[in-house]
Amino acid sequence: MTTGSGIPVRRFHDASSDDASQLDRAWYDRLRDAAGRTSVARFDVPVRDGRAWPVRAGQVCRITTIEGPQAGDLNAWSLHDPRERFWAARTRMLEGTHVTTYSRLWSTRPFHRPMLTLIADTLPTTPSARGARCHDLLGTGCDPFIWKLKNGVDFDRTCYNNLARSIAPFHLTEFDVHDVVNLFMSTGLEPSTGMYFMEPVPAKRGDFVELFAEIDVLLALSSCPAGDISIPHLGTDRGDPSPTCRPLGVEVFDVDPALLAGWRSPERVVTGPVYGDMEPRS
Ligand SMILES: [Zn+2]
Repeated sequence: MTTGSGIPVRRFHDASSDDASQLDRAWYDRLRDAAGRTSVARFDVPVRDGRAWPVRAGQVCRITTIEGPQAGDLNAWSLHDPRERFWAARTRMLEGTHVTTYSRLWSTRPFHRPMLTLIADTLPTTPSARGARCHDLLGTGCDPFIWKLKNGVDFDRTCYNNLARSIAPFHLTEFDVHDVVNLFMSTGLEPSTGMYFMEPVPAKRGDFVELFAEIDVLLALSSCPAGDISIPHLGTDRGDPSPTCRPLGVEVFDVDPALLAGWRSPERVVTGPVYGDMEPRS
């Protein structure tokens, strides 16, 4: 690959390369077949609120904009060890700044494995006129700290608050909240400045993404208090986005075991000793 100036560039990860991080798209395509799955849980994430729920390896989870455009902030942990959690930076390097069907969400070191694979996405996959794409890994969830800094007020319904409250029953705390997948958000980086920008959420009623759980995970989702991102919520020109806030829908499916034939939950990457030779030195 070369740039317009002819300078050679190299992608960090090339989807056509034949290495261990590739996935078999045709295998994942089969998981979209409604006849091969059974709904086992269904609930809503209320307006400006959060929910957390487990998804077992081999299950599919669908997240839907059930009443129209709404941003959703997603966190993920291993169900068995919350030190293993979604890693936005490495996922950006491997999958791109925005995720869609066939993208995988990777976990932190020293585990470093796919936690979830997107198997469906009904939102636009072509960039907007300004180059915005959906479901970014560039920004992170809103929190009471930026709200206080930019608006001068306390506000406890941010995504950070919603995620922290939702995981408390699972014995996790605000320190476990991490950088999110900005589901349904349409965002980009201005080419001339590199600054992060947001466009209104393009999702319609009934749009959804589906995630296949590669390992047992705990998911948490906040229905962002900035709603559909059409009204600024931070800074002196802010308005009140509450009329644009809507709930999100969550549904978990068991998959027919026959469809899972040939699949194995990924192991963590095993390497040599990270600390090398730690023999005492005289
Ligand atoms: Zn938010």
